[in-house]
Amino acid sequence: MDKLIITVAPTGNVPTKETSPGLPVTPEEIGEDVYRCYRAGAAIAHIHARDLLGQPTADPAVFKAIISEIKARCNIIIQCSTGARAGKNAAERGACLALKPEMASLATGSSNFPGSVNYNPPALIKTLALKMRDFNIKPEIEVFDLSALETAIWLTEKQILQKPLHINLVFGVPGSMSGDPRNLFFLLEKLPPGSTWTVTSIGQTHRQLSALALVLNGHVRTGLEDVAGLEQDKSGTNVDLVTRIAELAKMYGRVPATPAEARKIIGLLD
Ligand code: MG
Repeated sequence: MDKLIITVAPTGNVPTKETSPGLPVTPEEIGEDVYRCYRAGAAIAHIHARDLLGQPTADPAVFKAIISEIKARCNIIIQCSTGARAGKNAAERGACLALKPEMASLATGSSNFPGSVNYNPPALIKTLALKMRDFNIKPEIEVFDLSALETAIWLTEKQILQKPLHINLVFGVPGSMSGDPRNLFFLLEKLPPGSTWTVTSIGQTHRQLSALALVLNGHVRTGLEDVAGLEQDKSGTNVDLVTRIAELAKMYGRVPATPAEARKIIGLLD
């Protein structure tokens, strides 16, 4: 079994301090929280930014502040979100790419969120992908649906994306793919050879699909972005969640990868 890459998604766009008192929101809070998660076994930090009112923002100045708070504390791999909730268009959503983080998220298809569209039209996908290629940023392909995986494969054939792909299979977002384990098995059969993959399972199926990823030699994402709404995780923290995955991993013979080991596994330059 490979070493396990634990990605922590500490903040997201949706949770608030009201729903999750342990939620890190300011750059300093995120830096400190990510550091604790790194100590607990996380190798990648999936970062969303908030403005002074706590609302999602794509402002690169906020991303810059978060990155510098994290880098002052540890060498975890930083992955900036280019997701649909924080910005209106490719220029806004890709503004953080100018900071040249090692990784960035790239959704390769549209789907629905509970109250809005996860809007990723073809031109926007292409623009963000080419910007990542130009800046030597490794995309994490966000797959909310089968069509997004097939689009990523097509973009690889067109050399807009480069192999090997690192793919995040996202389940349990109402309006997108459910957390039925059969969905995971089906998608795994479609992955291009040599890809690395991680599971993000939002809400009730988080634990089950995380365990399946551990057994199947995949990688796991956790964090308040993904489970903040769950009753049992309401008072939890990101460190608790990362620790829980690291402990569960032991039962399946998986050892958390350091950031340096994770860089090798997914093909980043160290
Ligand atoms: Mg996100």
